[in-house]
Amino acid sequence: MPLTKAEASLLSRRTGIDVDSFTWKNNGVLTLLNDETTRACVFLLTSSADVNAEGMCSVYEVRPRGCRTYPNVLNDQDEAILDEGCPHRSQFPTPSEEDSITLLNLEEQLLREV
Ligand code: SF4
Repeated sequence: MPLTKAEASLLSRRTGIDVDSFTWKNNGVLTLLNDETTRACVFLLTSSADVNAEGMCSVYEVRPRGCRTYPNVLNDQDEAILDEGCPHRSQFPTPSEEDSITLLNLEEQLLREV
């Protein structure tokens, strides 16, 4: 999951963990690391690598904007769609044009920080 520097700083302050310990750069974009064992975000409390396994976000109150808007993601036409990889996508409404604008603004902010 991509995140801004400000979001990473907030997570670092709240968790006491260095930003470098929970992020990496994906083509220059700051991104949350996945746990080597569970292959899920390092902040997801889960013990299984199964995509359908139970899990709970340990930083829910301060999770990045990309987490708040998920499973909405942008397609190649810059339209918000529900992520094909999300096993719960059927429980979410079809994204609106406003959702597309929200994601485009977030993407622009992330790319400005590269
Ligand atoms: S919602 Fe929480 S566990 Fe999920 S990707 Fe975001 S920070 Fe990680």
